[in-house]
Amino acid sequence: MVQIQTFTFNPLQENTYVLYDETREAVIIDPGCYDQSEKEVLTAFIAQNDLKPVKLLNTHAHIDHVLGNAFVKRKYGVELYLHESDLPVLKSNKILAPHYGIMAFEETEVDHFLIPGQSITFGNSELEIRFVPGHAPGHVAFVGHADRFVIGGDVLFRGSVGRTDFPLSDFDTLVRSIRTQLYTLPDDYTVYPGHMGTTTIGQEKRTNPFVRL
Ligand SMILES: [Zn+2]
Ligand SMILES: [Zn+2]
Repeated sequence: MVQIQTFTFNPLQENTYVLYDETREAVIIDPGCYDQSEKEVLTAFIAQNDLKPVKLLNTHAHIDHVLGNAFVKRKYGVELYLHESDLPVLKSNKILAPHYGIMAFEETEVDHFLIPGQSITFGNSELEIRFVPGHAPGHVAFVGHADRFVIGGDVLFRGSVGRTDFPLSDFDTLVRSIRTQLYTLPDDYTVYPGHMGTTTIGQEKRTNPFVRL
């Protein structure tokens, strides 16, 4: 069974997730840890729970989701997975960082491209990769079917959807992604978004003011 630990990091209040199972193998998704105290919160949790991080995953490459990539790669020797279409987003962070007040942005190389339809494995667990562009051109969601959850990044929020006022965003594409890739999941799947609290597929299908089924 997959356990999901949530941290909220950096001035943009981004949700970082650590997923692990009974084998103690773990994946770290969207590490937004920026300052020393946030890095210590993440590493203390991993040490206290005797976890072994085996992969570093990004739902997309907006700066608030990748701030801790370099630190996590170095600390745990893990390889980074991102969808190829988000490489331009990743590359733009160095220039954008000062606009967010981030003076010490450290770039990282991608080791593997995420392929929609394929799976990411760790321990006894498996995550399906779903392609959900719109907020970012190479945005993916990670679906844990056995435990009925979605790590959704900035696509679908409780009562909201991801912003599409970024240079490579597109609202119609976002709506199509939500309808075809997320609302096709069972209603009881829990959504763990990139910001704010959790919701379920069914609740958003019924009540989301932007995209309803
Ligand atoms: Zn984003
Ligand atoms: Zn975000």
